[in-house]
Amino acid sequence: MSRRLFVALLSFGMALVSHATTPVLVIHGGAGVIKRDMTPAKEKAVRAAMTKALEAGYAQLKAGKPAIDAVTTSIAVLEDDSNFNAGKGSVFTHDGKNELDAAVMDGESLRAGSVAGVHRVKNPILLARAVMDHSPHVMLVGDGAEAFAKEQGIVLVDPSYFRTEERWQQWQKVLKDDAEKHARAGSDPTHHFGTVGAVALDKEGHLAAGTSTGGMVDKRWGRVGDSPIIGAGTYANAQCAVSGTGWGEFYMRTVAAHEICMRVSMLEEPVQRAAAEVINQEIPSMGGSGGAIALDTNGNIAIPFNTDGMYRGWIGADGIAHVALYDDEPDPSNHPPASATSSADASTNN
Ligand code: ASP
Repeated sequence: MSRRLFVALLSFGMALVSHATTPVLVIHGGAGVIKRDMTPAKEKAVRAAMTKALEAGYAQLKAGKPAIDAVTTSIAVLEDDSNFNAGKGSVFTHDGKNELDAAVMDGESLRAGSVAGVHRVKNPILLARAVMDHSPHVMLVGDGAEAFAKEQGIVLVDPSYFRTEERWQQWQKVLKDDAEKHARAGSDPTHHFGTVGAVALDKEGHLAAGTSTGGMVDKRWGRVGDSPIIGAGTYANAQCAVSGTGWGEFYMRTVAAHEICMRVSMLEEPVQRAAAEVINQEIPSMGGSGGAIALDTNGNIAIPFNTDGMYRGWIGADGIAHVALYDDEPDPSNHPPASATSSADASTNN
C-alpha cells in the first residue's frame, strides 16, 4: 500500500470514529391550560419530576445506550409520578376506571410497539417496548395485552394503584358540570391534557420516540386516542422523531406525528417549521388543540403548542436539564410564533 493511500485510509477511519453524535433528549408532560395558579409545591414537584425523567434518560444516552432506551426510561419515571396523566395519576373514564395507552418507535429500524386500554400494567411504556422487542406484532389491546404482559414478567398492579384523589375530583367535576357535552365531544379542549412523551437522539445518530397516557378524562366506549397509534401521536424514522399531546382525535385525523416526519424526510423542511405547520396551523384549523415535541438527526428541537402552556424539558450539548411549563418561558424552538420559528430555523437547520 502506498504511503499516500495509507494516510488517506487512516484519516477516513479517524473521521468515522470521531463522528459520534451529541446526544439530545426532549420530553413533555402534556399541553393545555397551564396558568400560574398552581401551588408552589405542585409546580416544584412537576419541575422536579421532569428533571428526574430527563436525567434518567440522558444517563442512558451518555452511557452510549440507544435512543429507545432513553425514551422508555424517561417515560417510565413520569408514569410513576402522579402529577402526570400516564401510569399512576391517569384520568378516569366515564365508567370510573383508568385505561392506559402507550407506544414506542425506533427510528432507525422503524420497529414499533404499542398497547391500548390496559388497566393493570404499572408501566405501559415498558409493555409497549416488550411488544416491539418480543412479539411479532405492533399493537396489543386490553386483556390480550395484559396476558402478554404477564408472560413477559411486566409488573401488574391492582387497578386501584392508578387512582389519585386529584384525578377523581377532576372526573367528579366533569360529571357534574358537563357530562353531556363531554360524552358527545369526548374531550375538554381547555383542560391540561397531561400525557407524557419523549424523543431522543443517541450517540450513533439514531432517533426514537415514545408516548404514554391515560387518555382524555371521561372517555367512553373503549375510546383510544392518538398516543398509541403509530403515526398519529408517536412516530420516528431515520430523520425525525415526534411525540404529541393534545386532543387525540385531531392527531389521528391528521396523522400528525407521521406528517411532521414526512415533511422533514421527504420535503426536507426544517423540523421546527414542519412541526409548527401541523401543530399550530393544521390541527387548530380543524378545531383541535395541543402540542408536540420533535427532534431531527442534527439535534434540532421543535416544541410547538397552541395551548396556554406545555410541560416540556430538554437536555442537549450542555448536559443540563432544562424545564419549562408556561407559554412565556423560552425553549429551543422559540415558541410560540410559527412565523418566527420558520425564519429562525431557516438559519439554523439548513
Ligand atoms: N392525546 C391524548 C389522547 O387523546 C391526550 C393527551 O395528550 O393528554 O388520548
